[in-house]
Amino acid sequence: MLSRLLTITRRLLPMQPMRHLLPSSCVLCGQTDREALCQPCRQRYFMVRPRRCVQCAMPIPTTAKEIRCGDCLKNKPAFDATVVATDYAAPADQLVLALKFGATLPLAPLLADMLHASVQHYTERGLPLPTLMTAVPLGVRRLRERGFNQSLEIARPLARSLGVRLDPQLLVRLRDTQAQATLPNDERKRNMRRAFVVPTGTMNHVRGAHIGVVDDVITTGETLNEIAETLKRFGARRVTNIVFARTVAK
Ligand SMILES: [Zn+2]
Ligand SMILES: [Zn+2]
Repeated sequence: MLSRLLTITRRLLPMQPMRHLLPSSCVLCGQTDREALCQPCRQRYFMVRPRRCVQCAMPIPTTAKEIRCGDCLKNKPAFDATVVATDYAAPADQLVLALKFGATLPLAPLLADMLHASVQHYTERGLPLPTLMTAVPLGVRRLRERGFNQSLEIARPLARSLGVRLDPQLLVRLRDTQAQATLPNDERKRNMRRAFVVPTGTMNHVRGAHIGVVDDVITTGETLNEIAETLKRFGARRVTNIVFARTVAK
């Protein structure tokens, strides 16, 4: 896994100082290509769209009568919809890891491009585009450690290409919560409780808006649920999560 990550990082590293991504090979298969991701890889890993729960994007059987999964029908998340580009599985997961932990920032526009196609697919089915976008904020400590917020790096080019205004300061993270991945499922909700707030300066923008919240990965959805709950408490009309990858294994 690590060696694969290093290969991706190495392939993109010489491009780091450049504004535009001009790699000479596909980040997933290594084939020489003008694009960062070759057409066959794009087709194979991103154009196959399983039927998903409209609310949390978990794959559901094509024969399902409901548009929501059993979990969403039972637990009613605070967000209204989730759009994802792919499952969080090999090889797409390597792109997320390389962006997040390999600081391979030129990957962000590629991930945004994949998400753009998914959002388009989603709006073609009659679902509304957000009127305002933001990214899941990192806590101060984690932002200092990492030096960048990977979700914001994806959100910037995505908002630009969708023509939707992005406000990175729409929400504030009040504390550095423990990394959700380190906690058992039943403690994740408590860990996130009241972790976010809408500051006075952006309250007016949230009221009545349909907000798109960008993140890199959705797992249990507790973080995004807490954010949607916060936005709704401050008067948001609708919240759509726009997330690169969906964890499907329970
Ligand atoms: Zn390829
Ligand atoms: Zn669901």
